[in-house]
Amino acid sequence: MNTVAFEVAAFALSLFCIVYSVIVKRSQYTPPRDFIGKLSSQHFIFLNLLSNVLLSSLASVVGYFLEMRGSAEVVFFQHFFHILYYVYHTALPVSFALYIMNVNGATLGRKKSFFLYLLTLFLLSEMLVLSNPFTHLVFYIDDSFIYHRGPMILFQYLSGLAYVFVGVFFFFKNKAAIPKKDFLTIAIAIIVALIGILLQAFIPNCSVELFFESVAFLAMMLLLEDRTAETDPTTGSGSRSAFIRNVTKLLETGQKFSVIGIKLINLEFYSSLFSGQDIDLILQKVYGWLVSVYPSDYIFHFRNEDFAIIVYNHTESEVEELANELLSKFEHTWQSEDLTARLEAGVSVIRIPEDSDSVAEISQILSAPNSWFNNGQRICLSDDINLIKRDLLIEKAIRLAVDERRLKVWYQPIWSAETGKIVAAEALVRLFDPVMGHISSEEFIPLAEKIGLISDIGSFVYEETCDFISRNDIGKLGIEYIEVNLSVYQFVEDEIIDKLERIRKAYGIRPEQLNLEITESASSDEAPNLNSRMLEMNSLGYSFSLDDYGSGYSNLIRLINSKYKNVKIDKYILWNSENNKDSARLLDSLIKIIRSLGMNVIQEGVETEVQLKRVLDSGCNLIQGYYFCKPVPEDEFISFVKNFNSK
Ligand code: C2E
Ligand code: MG
Ligand code: MG
Repeated sequence: MNTVAFEVAAFALSLFCIVYSVIVKRSQYTPPRDFIGKLSSQHFIFLNLLSNVLLSSLASVVGYFLEMRGSAEVVFFQHFFHILYYVYHTALPVSFALYIMNVNGATLGRKKSFFLYLLTLFLLSEMLVLSNPFTHLVFYIDDSFIYHRGPMILFQYLSGLAYVFVGVFFFFKNKAAIPKKDFLTIAIAIIVALIGILLQAFIPNCSVELFFESVAFLAMMLLLEDRTAETDPTTGSGSRSAFIRNVTKLLETGQKFSVIGIKLINLEFYSSLFSGQDIDLILQKVYGWLVSVYPSDYIFHFRNEDFAIIVYNHTESEVEELANELLSKFEHTWQSEDLTARLEAGVSVIRIPEDSDSVAEISQILSAPNSWFNNGQRICLSDDINLIKRDLLIEKAIRLAVDERRLKVWYQPIWSAETGKIVAAEALVRLFDPVMGHISSEEFIPLAEKIGLISDIGSFVYEETCDFISRNDIGKLGIEYIEVNLSVYQFVEDEIIDKLERIRKAYGIRPEQLNLEITESASSDEAPNLNSRMLEMNSLGYSFSLDDYGSGYSNLIRLINSKYKNVKIDKYILWNSENNKDSARLLDSLIKIIRSLGMNVIQEGVETEVQLKRVLDSGCNLIQGYYFCKPVPEDEFISFVKNFNSK
């Protein structure tokens, strides 16, 4: 059968693939310089595969035409081109096996000796080919200038087959390390190539193998080597999905590595000043610099303000050194055309597998630590990463509890110094997670505010409290009102007053039976309508407590200008006053000033008789603290109050 046309087609196809890969698609590709680097570079091996098909098909076609001439003048060239054919053809199966191993990460972390063992059979086959002019073991050309296979040709085929098996073995072994699409592409490529090999092996003079292989490689080029979707359009770096594919591969093959996250903390600020195009220029500038510090294959533009670098084959101290080097660059300004930006960055170092071993968690950690960097910290190492992970778990627990309405509301009594009775209570939310157990409000409320769930939690507690009041005649128990905490973030909502009113009316309770606690903070700026909304609610009959006074951003002017019924002094001021005379004087003066302004003072955190005496002596008229009772579930609260107030 004359199948030379197939070889010509294989030549044309592989030539096309090489030109397309080298010139059109990956013109910026620079092959690694070292031996292991070359053998572990997927694209380098791919180009090698294509070159082997190209050169063996070229040699085969030339050999065919020389054989047609069949004369003593060309017999030398006949030999030459057949040897050339075998040299490149022998390299094909081993390149194929290496290619599969590169796609699914089986070459990662391997030492030089691994590659040398892997190449032994290939080197033996090549030696056999190169010694053929003396041994005629692979092929020979008879006196009529006709080509014949030699006795050792079987060895060549078996060695090729062995490499196909090695490839198939690693293909299945590291199946989980690659996306399904890549797995299917390789499976199809293997089947197509095997069909070609078998046809050529069993049908004499049927040279279709190279053609089938070049078709398989064309599919691989289009589906595996074309990483357009994995290229970030803004910077030209690897995209988020490229990052995820690479991390998955490293995780699935059990590698130890680190991910350095670089967060441009104030990029948003520049986004509000500059055009989108200018921001792109800045990002390109940052990427350009990163590339000058670390190889581009490992740098990814993870999200708008986030870059991630996969650091592989480095010791822990080298990684930290690199992280610090990256950070130091951000002490300078960035210049791009006529733009100048002073970017601030925060760097996090995630060690894998010690700090995390899941790609989803790594992505979450990289996206998370904005708030970490906002307080001036610029580098996040292992301990911080563990705290970030805890925050992520709590975040998940909050979302679940809100979805499943699993939050609980407990009540803590407030005692009046004037009557000696329990006259009020504070409603406090409780989160019990099936896995993490009890999570303190002090830990999860600030997180809920950050992730936008505080409004749901606040409404839930408010509604539960209204329900509690409507079911129990609290006035009869001696309870005038229940304090409910509202976050300033809830006051951002336009609907807040309507919402609270709707709930209250649905339970048929009076606004006077509630008292709303607000902690003022710098974030009062985030709720510019706080004052006007409070005034509106005052006119509807609601009253307010200023919570945690003396901590954070509370100031005296606000006290005069806002109409608070109660001021709750932060428990830490009380606790500090026990061993700090200045704090004690401050506490005493605060209580006196607030009382003189006509407001009630609730001291929270009273645990001992000494503390109680101290605040009562200063004139505090309401007490909340473990000295009387901890926050307790509704039933316990009712029996406590019944019992206490009947004394
Ligand atoms: P907060 O509003 O200042 O509530 C008082 C906190 O002090 C409560 O902590 C209470 O259990 C605790 N406490 C009271 N007396 C004592 C005492 O004698 N000793 C000690 N060690 N602690 C005492 P909790 O329940 O953990 O709440 C912490 C914070 O979480 C609250 O501080 C409040 O800011 C927030 N929070 C709780 N529930 C809600 C809610 O429903 N909505 C909002 N927005 N925030 C809430
Ligand atoms: Mg409170
Ligand atoms: Mg408080």
